[in-house]
Amino acid sequence: MTRFEDIKAFAFDVDGVFTDGLVLAMPDGDLLRQFNSKDCFGVRTAADNGFPCAIITGGVSPSLMHRAHSLGVPDEYLYMLSKDKASDLLHFCQRIGLEPSQVAFVGDDIPDIPAMQLAGLGVCPADAVAEVREVADFVSSFNGGRGCIRDLMERVLKPQGKWKFDPTNPWKGSHPDSITKYAKLTGKNV
Ligand SMILES: [Mg+2]
Repeated sequence: MTRFEDIKAFAFDVDGVFTDGLVLAMPDGDLLRQFNSKDCFGVRTAADNGFPCAIITGGVSPSLMHRAHSLGVPDEYLYMLSKDKASDLLHFCQRIGLEPSQVAFVGDDIPDIPAMQLAGLGVCPADAVAEVREVADFVSSFNGGRGCIRDLMERVLKPQGKWKFDPTNPWKGSHPDSITKYAKLTGKNV
């Protein structure tokens, strides 16, 4: 197990980690998810302070792509329709030039176990399934969609002096479409 203060990057499952696991199935086939703003602010802060962040999920949806962009997860670190999360995690590590031992992976269900075991720090929410809690290096006391990500971000960033914010650039990392719409709406040059 790698210590919190030695983690240099993050990879996350989505359903049951960023969310409580519930999805709203829309008539057009899209799945709506509720994200926790506190978790998302934590990830943005990590990305803004130089921590590469990846999403590795079996799901796929346009809204998930937009959310990933606002979190500071670029397309090249977004793995949707993942069938083998450990190999996608390895691909991410190669891309960013880090060893898996330097990366934390957060998951909540059985498909996440190989990636959690490959990562230096396997993390899960309090309400992860029993098999995942058994293999996790760290079980947050917060549930999925209820602060488990924020918990991890603060534990990793604070001891490294990276829990820092840049209030002058609140739109950094946001989806380009959102920025364009905001600029048109407000006349602000963002
Ligand atoms: Mg999940």
